[in-house]
Amino acid sequence: MITVAVIGGGASGMMAALTAASRGAAVTVFERQSRLGRKLAVTGNGRCNLTNLHASPESYHGTDRSFAVPALRRFGQEETRKYFRELGLITVAEPNGKVYPLSDTAGSVVDVLRYALDAAGVRLLDGCEVNRLERTKNGLLISWAGGSMAADRVIVACGGMAGERFGGTGLGYRLLGELGHPCTPLRCALVQLRSDNPGCRSLKGVRADAGVTVTRRGRILAATEGEVQFTDTGLSGPAIFEISRTALEQPETVVNLDLVRDLSEEELAGMLLRRAKNTPRLTLGDVFVGTVQNRIGRVLVAAEGLKASESVAGLAEKTALRLAKRAKCFAFPVTGDLGPANAQVTVGGIRTDGFDPHTMESRLCPGVYACGEVLDVDGDCGGYNLQWAWSSGRLAGVCAAGG
Ligand SMILES: Cc1cc2nc3c(=O)[nH]c(=O)nc-3n(C[C@H](O)[C@H](O)[C@H](O)COP(=O)(O)OP(=O)(O)OC[C@H]3O[C@@H](n4cnc5c(N)ncnc54)[C@H](O)[C@@H]3O)c2cc1C
Repeated sequence: MITVAVIGGGASGMMAALTAASRGAAVTVFERQSRLGRKLAVTGNGRCNLTNLHASPESYHGTDRSFAVPALRRFGQEETRKYFRELGLITVAEPNGKVYPLSDTAGSVVDVLRYALDAAGVRLLDGCEVNRLERTKNGLLISWAGGSMAADRVIVACGGMAGERFGGTGLGYRLLGELGHPCTPLRCALVQLRSDNPGCRSLKGVRADAGVTVTRRGRILAATEGEVQFTDTGLSGPAIFEISRTALEQPETVVNLDLVRDLSEEELAGMLLRRAKNTPRLTLGDVFVGTVQNRIGRVLVAAEGLKASESVAGLAEKTALRLAKRAKCFAFPVTGDLGPANAQVTVGGIRTDGFDPHTMESRLCPGVYACGEVLDVDGDCGGYNLQWAWSSGRLAGVCAAGG
């Protein structure tokens, strides 16, 4: 019987272990944390966006974008949903394609995987951090503080550095690095952005539904729309996560918010002028009432160098247009991100040219496989990263167990 050791009991490691066990291998999972799937249990704000109906290779990034294709083709979103259904997890898709468990609880996803691992007789060594992986004359040897174990095949599923609080580490990069696999430069994506726009601090805690574009020297690099949250250091929320990868790719990028998507600049300016004419006793601080959230309105007025206490009476057309322009394009220069502790995914990882995309096996060290975020593959926001974990874990498990 082939012995398979899986290093990392996260999404991809659990999938790899279950798959290898179902194909007759004797499987051991090593997990450094006290329980399996800790990160998985907090995904999707505790709801676990486990895949996306629109998942396709175009939603993935990395030095070689084609690397992810064979794994995604073999075990895509449809196969994933079917697989989880067989484990007893019913899933539902939202209109935007995001798939969640019907229970709306990420813990259910972890639970069905744990039950299946137990039923498949997979040996679990939790609280056990692997600190060395080497090839000896007797095969592959895995070592940890308390001992070592030989295995015919080893699957490295250690994840990336993102989500530090839930188990993100750089250990996988080191283990594979010691076998000769180089790592690309690493950075964060799906993360809150820092900005030095003073409006952020004043708006801390406020949410807005906005059109969002990322520009650099006037050129649009990305565009989306949806919820934006203001924080004391910058911007957060689903729409910001979605464009964060592009916003952090180059220096000097700016995130622009269109806070009144339904109106043109002229229409909005007209509304402000009507307000000034009809209710001249109001102050400028109230001029945006009814169009944007009140605190946002006051920040827009201040951003134009105007005083909230000034009367709206006699609001000049030019000033109304300036205010409307500001509301339609409120600019936040990007100065960085909140780092791996707060990020959902790592951009970069172990270089994929060292692995066969059809088997996930190392080209340098036969018998060693890798899957999930430890590799230089990352997906867009919306369930794509977990889909990569399932697809690549599945392929590594199949091939490590003998195909
Ligand atoms: C807060 C948050 C929310 C997210 N939400 C979503 C979402 O809704 N949808 C989505 O698609 N993606 C989401 N992601 C991203 C997704 O969770 C990851 O891309 C995915 O979990 C990666 O799977 P993995 O198996 O490669 O790594 P992980 O799930 O991180 O698992 C790696 C495991 O290996 C263990 N490990 C590491 N080194 C060792 C070692 N040396 N020895 C033993 N064990 C080790 C770690 O403790 C960890 O448990 C989210 C991420 C975060 C942080």
